[in-house]
Amino acid sequence: MRCAAHTLGCKLNFAETSHLLRRLTAYGHQIVDFDDEADLYIINTCTVTAIAEKKCRTIIRQAIRRNPGAQVAVIGCFAQNDAASIARIPGVTLILGNDRKHLLPELIANEKVDTEATTPFPLAYSSGDRTRSFLKIQDGCDYFCTYCAIPFARGRSHSATIEQVLQAVDEIAAQGIREVVLTGVNTGTFGQQRGETLLQLLRRLDSETTIARYRISSIEPNLITDEMVRFIADSRAFLPHFHIPLQAGSDKILKLMHRRYDTALYREKLELIKRLMPDACIAADIMAGFNGEDETEFARVCQYVESLPLSYLHVFTYSNRPNTAALRLPEPIPVAVRREHSHALQAISNQKREAFCQSQTGKQHTVLWESTQHPDGTMQGWTDNYIRLCRPYDATLVGTVTTETVEKSSIVYNFPTEG
Ligand code: SF4
Repeated sequence: MRCAAHTLGCKLNFAETSHLLRRLTAYGHQIVDFDDEADLYIINTCTVTAIAEKKCRTIIRQAIRRNPGAQVAVIGCFAQNDAASIARIPGVTLILGNDRKHLLPELIANEKVDTEATTPFPLAYSSGDRTRSFLKIQDGCDYFCTYCAIPFARGRSHSATIEQVLQAVDEIAAQGIREVVLTGVNTGTFGQQRGETLLQLLRRLDSETTIARYRISSIEPNLITDEMVRFIADSRAFLPHFHIPLQAGSDKILKLMHRRYDTALYREKLELIKRLMPDACIAADIMAGFNGEDETEFARVCQYVESLPLSYLHVFTYSNRPNTAALRLPEPIPVAVRREHSHALQAISNQKREAFCQSQTGKQHTVLWESTQHPDGTMQGWTDNYIRLCRPYDATLVGTVTTETVEKSSIVYNFPTEG
């Protein structure tokens, strides 16, 4: 069967799609481009905002138009949260939420599957450009922040075992991949159900594997311990790059969101990181236009964010999600104002990104060079502290880590700001 996939949303979804495609290949299926005619289209969906759901519907319809006779499997978060609305799209043949999507190859092969059976954590990893892999070590969340639909879409926090992760990393290393990004919904809660901790995992990865570089995709501020920061600062392979969701730069709004930290704790964590790793890149997710963010509060938010040693922001505009507690909160903000706040935060992010890159020019950093040859004859790679650099293409450098001096002319200004 010719199979094609399209992924929306976060790195977790990308890791899961990549894993599914590898398993379909093992079943003898051929993987083709999503723009080609296929017998099976897989759309791995996202439910994080209303816009994300709209994009999912568009992609599903595109697949159906491309080959009306094909099987169309819609899987993932949107499929989990609103299967009924997807089922109303004529041409969709299979809907699998997050709890069952890993069974797709078996279901397509008409194999009997026991959906009730307890299976080990469905660990997944991507192996896209063969230099970097996103490895899913944890899924789900118990926090129930008031704006977030993820606990409904991905269930309670659950994770792989340390042994499972070590085994997957060995597989990844055997493919020649040099960098692994540890990914999860709430990565800091790794291992909690079985008495293991994220720090134990980090220590073992650092000492027992051959992977040259590790990053942690994102970690909640209340779950970054001082011990963890100190460990990363002295580690062999964990890079000085942090992604720490802030969501709101105001204690009043953080309370309304049911976040588990305040602005003082957030600042403390950032200051510790910068004290131990002055060149570290620190990114933050921030939400614009949540309840209570009137003009006075927003001015406070901007002032606070500007004062933090952040390198850039991922800005999200708040949108109402079904079933979330935020729908019952006071002081909603008009949609037009949410957008204005989002633009203002984006402008702050651009300034911070620029300032961070400038602060690194003239300094030496290691770079992992990727395989793509760009149309201008260059190749690109990320420094340890997440600055994108380019240089003339040289096939012998693909997949190698070299030490480079950051120069203004070699910086590629395309930081991801969403997702
Ligand atoms: S920590 Fe909050 S925002 Fe993050 S996934 Fe859990 S509920 Fe959602």
